[in-house]
Amino acid sequence: MKFEGKTAVVTGGSRGIGRAICLELAKGGANVVLCCAGNEQAAQETAAACEQVGGKALAVRCDVSDAAQVKELFDQTQAAFGGVDILVNNAGITRDGLLVTAKEEDFDQVLAANLKGAYLCMKLAAKGMMRRRYGRIVNLSSVVGLRGNPGQTVYAASKAGILGLTKSAAKELATRGITVNAVAPGFIGTDMTAVLPEKAKEAMLATIPQGRPGTPEDVAKAVAFFASEESAYITGQVLCVDGGMAV
Ligand code: NAP
Repeated sequence: MKFEGKTAVVTGGSRGIGRAICLELAKGGANVVLCCAGNEQAAQETAAACEQVGGKALAVRCDVSDAAQVKELFDQTQAAFGGVDILVNNAGITRDGLLVTAKEEDFDQVLAANLKGAYLCMKLAAKGMMRRRYGRIVNLSSVVGLRGNPGQTVYAASKAGILGLTKSAAKELATRGITVNAVAPGFIGTDMTAVLPEKAKEAMLATIPQGRPGTPEDVAKAVAFFASEESAYITGQVLCVDGGMAV
């Protein structure tokens, strides 16, 4: 996929799926601005890897749940590369636990990082995209947001919220040359899933028809399609990248 002359903001680009997305866009020639919550060394390493595969890259520390920091992220992007053509809302956290024992602060933190963060970034990106009548917004949801999962009520709520955000924004922005789509990964091998107990991993694996966990690259290729010019007539959609898990 070609992204020459395009500028992409990828939240949570320091590790895992976000890192693979940055590399996929950079391979196509994009200028990539990636942010992380605190892992600046990993973010700088991703930026360096992006430059090695042909893109230009800038790593920024930004907590996406903080409106002032998000504004700073977009100001830095504007100063480095101009307006944003592609926004990938990938930053996310989990706080797993049963409904009756989950803490209220877990709900607030997960919703702030996963849902409010996407909302804040979309608001800022959409303004410039509307002016320039072009944009691609891709939001990371989850199969769990579509189907629910015991022990993940809070996380599932945030990922279901992403779907409402995606579909409503898709309708609002459709006449301006802006598409808004979601990718819903299943069980992907990253730091997020590495911490799960072995039994939970085995149980997840048993629900995947293809019989293997996904890779960050599997997800990045779907994101790159929605980020490309080729997906111009597709908006408001949710694509599961899950080896058949949600079928
Ligand atoms: P990960 O390996 O845990 O990486 C999370 C990334 O998000 C890191 O770059 C982290 O930055 C960043 N981040 C977290 N909170 C942030 C905040 N408040 N502001 C800015 N950046 C923040 O996660 P992953 O597995 O790659 O997941 C990426 C996305 O896919 C998430 O939205 C996740 O919910 C979704 N997803 C993952 C799976 C899966 O199986 N892995 C399945 C479905 C959906 P630092 O490095 O600084 O901490």
